[in-house]
Amino acid sequence: MTIKTRFAPSPTGYLHVGGARTALFSWLHARRHGGDFVLRIEDTDLERSTQASVDAILQGMDWLGLDYDEGPFYQTERFDRYNAVIDQLIEQGLAYRCTCSKERLQQLREQQMAAKQKPRYDGHCRDREIGPDEPHVVRFRNPLDGEVVFNDLVRGPIRVANQELDDLIIRRTDGAPTYNLTVVVDDHDMGITQVIRGDDHINNTPRQINLYQALGWEIPEFAHLPMILGDDGARLSKRHGAVSVMQYFEDGYLPEALLNYLVRLGWSHGDQEIFSLAEMTEWFDLSAVNKAPSSFNTDKLNWLNQHYIKSADPARIAELVLPHMNALGIQTNVDDKLIAVVEAQRERASTLVELAEISAFYYQDFAEYDAKAAKKAFKGDAAKCLQHVAAKLAELSDWQREPIHQAVADSVGELDVGFGKVAMPLRIAVTGGSPSPDLDLTLYLVGREAVLRRVDQAIRKISQATLD
Ligand code: GLU
Repeated sequence: MTIKTRFAPSPTGYLHVGGARTALFSWLHARRHGGDFVLRIEDTDLERSTQASVDAILQGMDWLGLDYDEGPFYQTERFDRYNAVIDQLIEQGLAYRCTCSKERLQQLREQQMAAKQKPRYDGHCRDREIGPDEPHVVRFRNPLDGEVVFNDLVRGPIRVANQELDDLIIRRTDGAPTYNLTVVVDDHDMGITQVIRGDDHINNTPRQINLYQALGWEIPEFAHLPMILGDDGARLSKRHGAVSVMQYFEDGYLPEALLNYLVRLGWSHGDQEIFSLAEMTEWFDLSAVNKAPSSFNTDKLNWLNQHYIKSADPARIAELVLPHMNALGIQTNVDDKLIAVVEAQRERASTLVELAEISAFYYQDFAEYDAKAAKKAFKGDAAKCLQHVAAKLAELSDWQREPIHQAVADSVGELDVGFGKVAMPLRIAVTGGSPSPDLDLTLYLVGREAVLRRVDQAIRKISQATLD
């Protein structure tokens, strides 16, 4: 049988980290077994579903590279099918119309609570054979005894007594079919073999299994993924910062870093931390998914992102960092300089935003210096040393690393001072204190005119400070 999995988000918000992890695990399971992956948008809640959320979900999937073989399917386009199934269940006596008023149900609930019983529908309309003319909901006739047993691929065997389950509403008064019905019809019609989803749905699964049984349909396997906690141990929520996947895009994370991070949220393979897509696809196994919740750890995500920024093709990183440079007001292109800047700076950045910030000085002059660095570098004979080295740099016929290096060395020799006496103020004058690579590479990339202009500015700043 062909393996087929699905991701079935409700478009009532963005694609968040938990949803992306569910999508990834479903996708990996399908890919690992050479199966198919389906995207289904569960948009039956007309009030809360929005096109903006649909777009954000599609965008997030696309950015992460979670491609689907079928879909996106939209549940709102399948109402006729759901209604046909519901009508068939009524006809077969497997579902019934219920006209219980809100007040009656509320009263029942209060009585049950007062008697310390679990609130559940009491089957009042089960055998009343109500016709279609009065306003009504449709309820599924859940078996009264016996139990539902299934083997969760993550949690192991789960048993629930039918007495715990009541007669679930499968169509509301307004004619809208409900989640537990639509999900069963879709998973069946779409040929889903493993339903992989968050464990917030685990209580729905026995109800869904009863529906499969009533309909005489083959029951898929189920895997419920443990929830994700924030750094502070509480369930991951908006409070924990960027929860929308596209926020990570905006904050300068690479999709492979987020995927690598997500795959380790609840799954492991020995003690390996870094997984290429090919490796995770080869090794992913639902039976190795942790039963316990996993915790979100921003430091680890940053560490992975830095790893991927450092090891990716520099031309690709240049492409990706460009919009972040533009956002700082730097107009440039992906050219040799930008690629060289990326290579020079990238081991010092854990996001593309940070990479852009620490690379701005290659393109932009600045008025402010890092206070600590300036205090240390701009003192003593700094102005004199800067003047001396600037004259040497101005004279160079060839602005290349080697002659630049030689000019600084000559200046140090002629001034008869330690290397740092010239190099330190020169570096701060040119970078403002941003992290930077070898001095000659830094100067080479900044360019002669900007170097001389900034050295001038630093000399003025130092004289100013001495006058103050
Ligand atoms: N639409 C449901 C949700 O977003 C998921 C349903 C499922 O995976 O069965 O929570």
